[in-house]
Amino acid sequence: MRIISCLLTLVLLTSCATTKENVDYQEAGTLWLQSSAEAKALIIQSFNIARLRLDQDLRKKGRKYNKKKRAIVVDADETIVDNSPYQAKNILIGREYTSDNWAEWIDLADAKALPGSVEFLKYAKSKGVEVFFITNRKMRGYDATLKNLKALGFPVTTKNLFLREGNNHSKETRRQKVLKDHRIVLLMGDALGDFGPFFETKSFEKRSKLVDQYKHEFGKRFIVLPNPMYGEWLGSVYKYDYSLSNDEKREIRRSKLKPY
Ligand SMILES: [Mg+2]
Repeated sequence: MRIISCLLTLVLLTSCATTKENVDYQEAGTLWLQSSAEAKALIIQSFNIARLRLDQDLRKKGRKYNKKKRAIVVDADETIVDNSPYQAKNILIGREYTSDNWAEWIDLADAKALPGSVEFLKYAKSKGVEVFFITNRKMRGYDATLKNLKALGFPVTTKNLFLREGNNHSKETRRQKVLKDHRIVLLMGDALGDFGPFFETKSFEKRSKLVDQYKHEFGKRFIVLPNPMYGEWLGSVYKYDYSLSNDEKREIRRSKLKPY
């Protein structure tokens, strides 16, 4: 009996160690977002550039620019709100992301605004520009997301908040709805998929080439926010195969490091 109990303890400890090791690699990115003044400065810089670009556009006259109403499309997570407390909790208790524990965090409606985000979007609204929030949070989190964004002061209503419908991760259909009656002046996001369908689920190598191809749009119509914690960038490292074991993922991550 004692041998069985020891064996069971060993198995449990081993599995805990593996899980913990799997989330520990996220420490640096999460710490950077939560603690570095440089991260804060970079986020503020993103909204400063957005304001500059919006002001430039507002000065444009003529039918070409005024035929349709101006719009700004923003992502939510890691673009205007900060989910690093969720990530920090996962790291500290050795828990991996699951859609259930993510939903628990969403339901708290307690994410904080990223610096500069509320001010910028309120400013855009004050200039008659429509703001659309297009996020891949699931519909089950709609009420909590609306409550959270409203409480933070974002100009959000049920008319301009679009969550993911079903399993379609692409934001293109939702962007097209906006484009029917609006001209999108700016797209803001922490993942390339926030800027166009051509960026979606591409390989690690292709994503880099696409950024070269669209380099004139960044800081212009595409404003990128930093997210070292998770996202398409990491998915592409794993070739979007989320069935890989923790050890396999670790191997792949290490294989992508380029030493001298
Ligand atoms: Mg995001």
